[in-house]
Amino acid sequence: MEVLVCGATGFIGSHLSRRLMEEGHNVRAVDIEPNGYVEHSIRNLIVGDLRDPSFVAEVIDQPFDEIYQLAADMGGAGYLFTGDNDAEVMRNSASINLNVLEAARQSKSRRIFFASSACVYPQRNQIDPLNPNCAEDSVYPADPDSEYGWEKLFAERLYIAYARNFDMAVRIARYHNIFGPNCAWNNGKEKAPAALARKVAETPDGGQIEIWGDGKQTRSFLYIDECLEGTLRLMRSDWSGPANIGSEEMISISALADMYISISGKKIGKRFIPGPEGARGRNSDNRLIRDKLGWAPSRPLREGLESIYAWISAQVASQDMPANERQA
Ligand code: NAD
Repeated sequence: MEVLVCGATGFIGSHLSRRLMEEGHNVRAVDIEPNGYVEHSIRNLIVGDLRDPSFVAEVIDQPFDEIYQLAADMGGAGYLFTGDNDAEVMRNSASINLNVLEAARQSKSRRIFFASSACVYPQRNQIDPLNPNCAEDSVYPADPDSEYGWEKLFAERLYIAYARNFDMAVRIARYHNIFGPNCAWNNGKEKAPAALARKVAETPDGGQIEIWGDGKQTRSFLYIDECLEGTLRLMRSDWSGPANIGSEEMISISALADMYISISGKKIGKRFIPGPEGARGRNSDNRLIRDKLGWAPSRPLREGLESIYAWISAQVASQDMPANERQA
């Protein structure tokens, strides 16, 4: 197949591009960042800005069998929940989605995947950390807790409107905290699984790590391999509505830190400090994908954490970064 990946040197995009190449497809890859998190060489990488409609028209100059749109202005809580980057996040990501979708239509590319987020879910359903509701149909009445979430929700509607009006097949995944090798871990855009792994890896035996909030906030985390599996299964399914791609193994941030500490074999204490936290509770609800895809992630969290801890420890060892210069 002729396949296009937008955001291809990003964390998920680079893994996805490799998987698609391994499947034998002809992959055209696009990103504004030439290197990104890529650990392998992507053949056929075009570097440019998807906010620019004329660039997008050059890139999408033929009908693709599949387009994966993952490019976005993206980060963890320290980037998305402080309010400092809201206007840029919304403008950048909305421009990309408007351009890519329109070029896909004009090129007669019929099937397009959009990476949405669990951040679309309303705040009211994420107040009790032990009982969040992230069923796909709970998203309305809309009330995401970040502008990033509002942009994703707008974009979901945009893709669905194109499907309705222009005979295009759109597939929408709401990713829940994906992690794995090559994710952001030390540039201010890292999310909790990478940030905590880095802190534990940097902290000597007998030391202490800092955790944003009281540690009782809950999340679930999905390892990259299962994210790719879910993405491809969704893309090639008949289900056209938004679908959660996430793990149902919910854990508190404090317990996540404990798991890393146990994996490290060190004795490390925890100190809870004020910081951006996002929702109090969030967990994937996989009833819909079990029904529509006949599949749901099953890998235990601890296995994925062991892999990412090994990867981040190796990065820490090779970079010699003083812990006191790091953000959470
Ligand atoms: P990422 O930041 O690693 O990848 C995004 C890529 O988009 C980057 O390589 C970036 O350079 C590229 N990009 C940004 N602006 C661009 C532009 N103007 N033109 C061209 N390329 C541009 O993020 P990721 O973790 O790989 O996430 C991929 C997608 O999945 C994003 O849309 C993100 O919002 C969504 N998502 C990710 C997670 C997660 O846990 N990683 C969770 C929910 C949703």
